[in-house]
Amino acid sequence: VIEIRNLHKAYGSLEVLKGVDIRAPAGHVVAMIGSSGSGKSTLLRCCNLLEDSQQGEVLFCGEPVRWRGTGMDRRPADRAQVTRIRTNLSMVFQSFNLWSHMTILQNVMEAPVTVLRRNPREVEDSARRYLAQVGIADKADAWPAQLSGGQQQRAAIARALCMEPKALLFDEPTSALDPELEQEVIRVIKALAQEGRTMIIVTHDMRLAADVADHVVFLHKGRIEEEGPPDQLFGNPRTERLRGFLSATQ
Ligand code: ATP
Ligand code: MG
Repeated sequence: VIEIRNLHKAYGSLEVLKGVDIRAPAGHVVAMIGSSGSGKSTLLRCCNLLEDSQQGEVLFCGEPVRWRGTGMDRRPADRAQVTRIRTNLSMVFQSFNLWSHMTILQNVMEAPVTVLRRNPREVEDSARRYLAQVGIADKADAWPAQLSGGQQQRAAIARALCMEPKALLFDEPTSALDPELEQEVIRVIKALAQEGRTMIIVTHDMRLAADVADHVVFLHKGRIEEEGPPDQLFGNPRTERLRGFLSATQ
């Protein structure tokens, strides 16, 4: 579904991504790990074109993003293509980002109705279905502030699902949560993996990565230092850097 080839990204003179390749084929779960500042969030944001990049290709379902300009002036050339890609890659953030002035149901319905212009009644049906799937059907009419962190994050996942995206992008979805609330969210993510959803998950939780990922990518200073199936990366890391990272996160 998503493929990135030789991506380079800089903020001014700071090179953040230095030639990264990543693939998330349909039905696959890719986990991205690495220390703070290694470029994980930036790479995720380049996938759905929330960030520009200076060099390299981004493909969505085999369709290459069209660019105009080069280097620091490179931008996507086709707004309709950007919208199509962005609405098909729903993102879930560390900090939930629910709209506080809308109920949970309104939060989940907002983008499908206003951005995709889908029929509100049909959207409401699927919104309630997704709220049930993440275990908070009874919170539809509550305000975000009335929910626990774990419930808010599950609402954010229902909101992402209601866009009917081709893939889900998670940026540290559990790191703002207390351990017991973290587990509620992990259960939901595991169920999504079992459903065959395509996902890229940035996480500091090695257990989650080991449990759900088909492929793990270890990013270090803007480069992929090591990648492979979770058994190999966690059971038999080849590079000194990954060994150091794993022993520091235990
Ligand atoms: P963390 O684990 O802390 O979330 P990360 O791997 O997600 O880290 P990024 O957020 O991708 O790291 O940041 C990579 C580098 O890019 C960092 O050095 C960061 O300071 C820098 N950076 C990120 N966003 C911007 C920005 N908007 N402007 C300038 N520099 C930025
Ligand atoms: Mg980050």
